[in-house]
Amino acid sequence: MDSEDAKTSKYAEQRKRRFSAPGFLSPSSLKSRLSGLARGQQGQRLDERRQTVDLSSFAMPFMETEEPDGNGGGKASGSQNSSGSGSPQGSTWNVDASKRYSSPGNQLRNSGKRRWHSGPSSSPTATTPGKVIYSSPQPRTSGFTSILEEEELTFVKFMKNHKCYEIIPTSSKLVVFDVTLRVKKAFFALVHNGVRAAPLWDSQKQDFVGMLTITDFINILHHYYNSATIKIDQLEEHKIETWRDVLKDKARPLVFIDPDMSLFEAVKKLVQEKIHRLPVVDENTGNVIYILTHKRILKFLALLKSEIRIPSFLKKSLRELNIGTMSNVATASPTTPLIKALKLFQERRVSALPIVDENNKIVDIYAKFDVINLAAEKTYNNLDITVEEALKFRQTYFEGVSTCKADETLEVIMDRIIKAGVHRLVMVDDEDHVVGVVSLSDLLNSLVLKPAGEDGRTSSSS
Ligand code: ADP
Ligand code: ADP
Ligand code: AMP
Repeated sequence: MDSEDAKTSKYAEQRKRRFSAPGFLSPSSLKSRLSGLARGQQGQRLDERRQTVDLSSFAMPFMETEEPDGNGGGKASGSQNSSGSGSPQGSTWNVDASKRYSSPGNQLRNSGKRRWHSGPSSSPTATTPGKVIYSSPQPRTSGFTSILEEEELTFVKFMKNHKCYEIIPTSSKLVVFDVTLRVKKAFFALVHNGVRAAPLWDSQKQDFVGMLTITDFINILHHYYNSATIKIDQLEEHKIETWRDVLKDKARPLVFIDPDMSLFEAVKKLVQEKIHRLPVVDENTGNVIYILTHKRILKFLALLKSEIRIPSFLKKSLRELNIGTMSNVATASPTTPLIKALKLFQERRVSALPIVDENNKIVDIYAKFDVINLAAEKTYNNLDITVEEALKFRQTYFEGVSTCKADETLEVIMDRIIKAGVHRLVMVDDEDHVVGVVSLSDLLNSLVLKPAGEDGRTSSSS
């Protein structure tokens, strides 16, 4: 075998290994899945399985069996397999899925127009099998790349060398809401389906117009709870489009990515746009085919780590590398009123609050994700309860807060955060006092964006 053959066969072997890895989709199966979508087969499949979610106003393009991480799972939702039996309301959830399916993507495709906002402009990186063409936005000063620079670019190259379609699981659940759906039903539907977010479809505009996430639930609760004129109960009558109108400054056009774009571009959008959900949209059909998260990307990296030469900086500590937030940490105490915690989420734009005792020692954590339990328990009309009381609604077994220390190595941290399946580790000192937070967005920013001269924390594109 000559060296070129050897390279090709090595690459073929790598790809074989990659695509046979559980949960990831090969380009060919993705292609057939996409063409299936284009022919409306997903609708049939959906129908066959009687995957059911309401409603006259509730569009749901396709759904396969649950994938435990990407859209629906992660640590907290476990393996909720919502195979369509029943509904939070009990009755009205069986509708003709194939009819419903024929709405968003197909109509868009038929209209032949592409009308979404793709966020900041970005250019895909040219890649060929086994070869990465690296283009840095900052010109390199010489043709010589030192080992150190080469190492620094390890994760940049990895992310540029892999495309979004590679990360899409073989099976996942996707829920889409029509903007005329009532807010209350929408959040119950998130809970019922064990997903954290849903793209929003506007049938009048024939367009995906944004996302609905738990952050929106928090914004809505916070807004209406303090309103003198509108009682929280009235929230139940509001449609998604109503509140998007009310909270105009917080309602954003859909930020999405094409399956053919690199993971580097995906990381860039997630971090720079400060979002946690990035829909992958197939341009040909107009369908959202998956919702990408930081967690999924890190998991993919961990799965394929044999592909990269582990850079020596992974042996350095978080402190040395200055990764994470190590000052001005937003915390709450067990007795903090829930409404105050929601305000902190809003004002500080953080995704979780470490819960500390009177000595600033870690005792628990309250994440945005936990707020959705208020919908599950239908207890959102009393936000004067304490955080401790709110945490009693946590649906899953809590194994204690996953923490780390600033002098632990990046390698250890990455391993721990992936295994814990959480979005962040709380940094503590030797006495368990909270000293910082390191989240998946910090890791991806430091490993992938900063070395490429694209620090997501310094650009504010949103
Ligand atoms: P969460 O952490 O609760 O899932 P995000 O941080 O992703 O929420 O969302 C923050 C805000 O940005 C929310 O108002 C949400 O609707 C919006 N948003 C999230 N993802 C997107 C997206 N891909 N396109 C447009 N808006 C988005
Ligand atoms: P998401 O997958 O939406 O990013 P999170 O990881 O923020 O969700 O939270 C999921 C669940 O894990 C929540 O119940 C939250 O309280 C819990 N959690 C979040 N961070 C930690 C942590 N560092 N240690 C232990 N549990 C955590
Ligand atoms: P995230 O939304 O978790 O991806 O985090 C966005 C940024 O906020 C990261 O730089 C985190 O380190 C930081 N961060 C997350 N939670 C907190 C918190 N409770 N206090 C201060 N900073 C935080």
